[in-house]
Amino acid sequence: MVGRTISDLEVFGPRTLRRHLPGPGDFIARVKGRTVAAACRRGKYLWLPLAGDEAAERGWGPATSAEGAGKERRQPRSHGVPESCVIAHLGMSGQFLAVEPGTPDPAHLRARFCFDDDGPELRFVDQRTFGGLALEVLDDPAAPPPSVAHIALDPIDPNFDRKAVHDALRRRRTGLKRALLDQTLVSGVGNIYADEALWQARLHYARATESLRRAETERLLDAVDDVLRAAIAAGGTSFDELYVAVNGESGWFERSLEVYGREGEPCSRCGSAIRREAFMNRSSYRCPRCQRVPREPRW
Ligand SMILES: [Zn+2]
Repeated sequence: MVGRTISDLEVFGPRTLRRHLPGPGDFIARVKGRTVAAACRRGKYLWLPLAGDEAAERGWGPATSAEGAGKERRQPRSHGVPESCVIAHLGMSGQFLAVEPGTPDPAHLRARFCFDDDGPELRFVDQRTFGGLALEVLDDPAAPPPSVAHIALDPIDPNFDRKAVHDALRRRRTGLKRALLDQTLVSGVGNIYADEALWQARLHYARATESLRRAETERLLDAVDDVLRAAIAAGGTSFDELYVAVNGESGWFERSLEVYGREGEPCSRCGSAIRREAFMNRSSYRCPRCQRVPREPRW
C-alpha cells in the first residue's frame, strides 16, 4: 500500500468508526486523496501514516476528540510529512485483505479503501466487530500514535531491547506467562504463542519472573522469536476458517504446534503426556517433564 494514493473509501456498520468521534463523514473527507506513507504495526494495532497537505487546507485539531477539535492549531509540517494516520485495532477477529477490485465482498466487510492506480483494494474485515478504525494525530511521524504509545515492541522488532525486557521482568515479580501476555512489557505474544515459546524454552508458566537468570530470558526470547517467525511463515494460526492471511489463505501453523491444543498427546522431546491446566480464564498447555513446576511458583 505504501506510496499509493487513496482515491475513495467506504465504511460499513455503526461500530467500525466508533473510536473516531467526529464520525464517518469526517473520517472519509480526511482520508480521501491522501497517500499512504508507511505501514506500521505494534501488537494488535496497525497504522498507516498519511502524507498529503491536510493541515494546510483545514487547520489541524486532534481528530479523535470532537471537543478538542480546532483548539490546538499547529503549524503544518512541510508538505508530504505525515501528520496523521489511519489506525486499526484488530480486536478479536479484525483483518486486512488486499484484493483485486471487483472481487465479491466478504460477509463482514467493514471498510474498503480504493487507490488511484486501480490496483488491489485494501479491505478491513471483522467478523466480531471488536476491532475498528480511527484517524489519529501523529506527533512524531517516526513514532506510534498516542493511543499505541503504551504498547511495547514485539520480540522480532529490530529495536527490541532484550536487556531492558530482562530487567523489567526481574522487577515485575509476577508469573512468567502473565508477563509474556502483558502487552506493555512485550507485545505480539498471545496465549498460543506463549505456551509454544515456554515449551521450547523449557520454562514453566508460573516461574517467578524475579528469579529469571539472563540466560533463561535469552532462551525464552529466542523461543518467542522462533515461534513468531515460524507462525508468520505459515500464515498465522487459524482455528477459525474465517481468519485468513492478507492474501486470503488460511494459516496452517496449528499443524506444527507442539503443546497448544495437544492435551494427552506425547511431548515430541520426551514423550510425556501434554497437560492442560486452567490459567487466567483460559488454558495453559505444558509438558510436565520438560516444564517442571518451579520451587516458588507465582500463579
Ligand atoms: Zn517433554
